[in-house]
Amino acid sequence: MKKTAAGVFSYREVLQWGTSVLMTQKIQDAAVDAWLLLEYVTGIDRTHYFLKMQEICPDEMENRYRELIGRRAQHVPLQYLTGVQEFMGYSFRVNDQVLIPRGDTELLVLEAEKKIRPGARVLDMCTGSGCIIISLAKRCSISAFAADISEGALAVARENAAALQAEAEFIKSDLFENIEGAYDCIVSNPPYIASGEIPRLMPEVRDYEPLTALDGKADGLYFYRRIAAGAKRFLKPEGWLLCEIGFDQGAEVASLFRKEGYTEIEIKKDLAGLPRVVTGRRR
Ligand code: GLN
Repeated sequence: MKKTAAGVFSYREVLQWGTSVLMTQKIQDAAVDAWLLLEYVTGIDRTHYFLKMQEICPDEMENRYRELIGRRAQHVPLQYLTGVQEFMGYSFRVNDQVLIPRGDTELLVLEAEKKIRPGARVLDMCTGSGCIIISLAKRCSISAFAADISEGALAVARENAAALQAEAEFIKSDLFENIEGAYDCIVSNPPYIASGEIPRLMPEVRDYEPLTALDGKADGLYFYRRIAAGAKRFLKPEGWLLCEIGFDQGAEVASLFRKEGYTEIEIKKDLAGLPRVVTGRRR
């Protein structure tokens, strides 16, 4: 599609152009992303698209679409362009200050729910967008607390809590440094990629998601060590610790939990059948 004159291309032509650009740049799910960006720019849903696809796409929308396709072609994640990601059926705002919530992390929320009693005090360590603690606060009756080292992440998490009308206290803290009080449950999806693996990640993740949300230092287990050791001081007796893990970290994280004296240690599998959550209980 060449730029000849203003407003001469139909929605259909614009979408075909976007799809072909993303395909040429080898973007995964090129057709889906091209469509979602068109929907985002025009506000036209799938049904209306089929009714209107032969109509001319207004020039300013076409220009906006070209700009977004250009950024997606450079591997900027779709969610940083549209500013949203669904998680547990809620719509979370995201930007480049936070990890984009992953479907796999829903298992952590579901497993935490099994441990949580009404009125429980729950702490989410390394909250990022706040997706875990906000989902728990919406679905269970809890006192919700969440910590992150990043001001930028906390700003996003607070905005999400307000937009979703969830009550939660957000604390700027390097791990447990500024944490007070005692909790019935501590949940965490900490950074867990070994530093040496990061260059091999897909460019969307490696070049655009915050490194501090990914990097688990030399062996990827740094934060599990710190959290397993630190959480003991803030869990009530019989309180639960639940961490999301990488698919190949189950045995190592379980053994870290054991070394720190936790009991009832279990490794839970995700929908793909891969180890995804480790649970343990303070004696
Ligand atoms: N807890 C947030 C999430 O699961 C952020 C995780 C992180 O930054 N590693 O999306």
